[in-house]
Amino acid sequence: MGQRMTRRQVAEGLELYAQKNYDAAIKKWTTALPKMKDNRLRFSTLGYLALASRDRGRNKDYLVHAVQQIDIAHELDDNVLRAQAYLNLSRANEMLADYFKAVSYSRLAMQFSPATDVVQGYALLVMADSYIGLCNFPKVLEYLDKALSISHENEDHLMEVQVLNTMGKVFLVLKDFPKALAFQQRAHELALSNAVYAGEQNANSSAKFVRLTKLKLATSLRIMGDFQGATKCVEEAMRSASSVGDRPVQAKCLVCVGDIQRSQNNNEVGRKSYSPDRASLRVACKKYEAAIQMLQDMNDRYSSTLAMLGLVKTLLALDTQKQMASEILVTALSTATAMGNKLMQARCHLLNERMLASENQINEARQAFEIAHRLYREVDLMCTICKNPIGMYRDQIQILTCTHIFHERCILNLLQKWTYEAQTCPKCNKSVLYSRSYIALSVS
Ligand SMILES: [Zn+2]
Ligand SMILES: [Zn+2]
Repeated sequence: MGQRMTRRQVAEGLELYAQKNYDAAIKKWTTALPKMKDNRLRFSTLGYLALASRDRGRNKDYLVHAVQQIDIAHELDDNVLRAQAYLNLSRANEMLADYFKAVSYSRLAMQFSPATDVVQGYALLVMADSYIGLCNFPKVLEYLDKALSISHENEDHLMEVQVLNTMGKVFLVLKDFPKALAFQQRAHELALSNAVYAGEQNANSSAKFVRLTKLKLATSLRIMGDFQGATKCVEEAMRSASSVGDRPVQAKCLVCVGDIQRSQNNNEVGRKSYSPDRASLRVACKKYEAAIQMLQDMNDRYSSTLAMLGLVKTLLALDTQKQMASEILVTALSTATAMGNKLMQARCHLLNERMLASENQINEARQAFEIAHRLYREVDLMCTICKNPIGMYRDQIQILTCTHIFHERCILNLLQKWTYEAQTCPKCNKSVLYSRSYIALSVS
């Protein structure tokens, strides 16, 4: 087959992709690839394949395509291609929860790209996401701040959407839910306004961020107790994801629906009378099970662990399958440990504490709590003012310009005692000025 023919196949693949016919596009590119002689065409075709694999949740394929891109970039000795390939490789590793690898490849992507280039911003985003996985929040905040500046310099709104989204994730993980909701709302608004102005060329990726931010918004609304709002958002996100076969968002929507079904009728949101609606709990179980299956197929260990924790809580509320609940909890804990995510491990131990306490195993429950407490100390999530962990229970937090984190009431109490000029962080003594961009974005 001639090279003109392979070029035509690549172009046809792009047309299919624009028509949201992703599998057909992947097939076209995969067929054309072995016959390609031009290395640059090979590189860009692998890039299309990488993106399409990522959209379909085929994270291992994504990794393979990125590795092939690296080889070509080295062969051509081209730094622009190197930066792109390393960025793909880092994102693939982040999605597979190989966080240390993700961070090193992001560093390489940054090393091979100009200082204010968009690649820098996207590499910083991968690093921020990876450090959420590793529970190193000062680093997350530092990189998000830099990524935000780059998104502004390049007027890259989709990058800004991702910064806001990741910031929302930080507050979600640390259980300051009102702030998480505020960031998810802003991320979603920006994704929507961006979609209005997006050209046909970017229609697919802007639609992707609309449904992704809608899903995140649903998650925060659910935790804040707005089940109706959450249901509406997650249904819209699910419809959009199903129409294009966006499996990662579909699976996460299932988890969100499970969460809504589970928490709609339990006392987590502070209701006094607790009467579990067994039918919705059983629906929740089905949703979680389907989600876990899909997420494990995609090798998304982070989200599948979250889904497992949801399933454990549901089984405990049903109170009929404690054995199964404790087995799933063991799997969740070992996955969290393999990922190196200590907060997720702590959450497993806290759930275990609840199970043990309900069976009157008081000493064992106490031990489980102490392990969780130790894990919070290990990730440096202790408020140095009140000596209690941050993010163990829902509470308002405040992040200072130096990236140190405190309970909001603790730091406000302290700062009120001092003059404005003398306001310094109790941890590092740096002057506390609310000038960093993520502070400007945050809402009190
Ligand atoms: Zn405190
Ligand atoms: Zn500090």
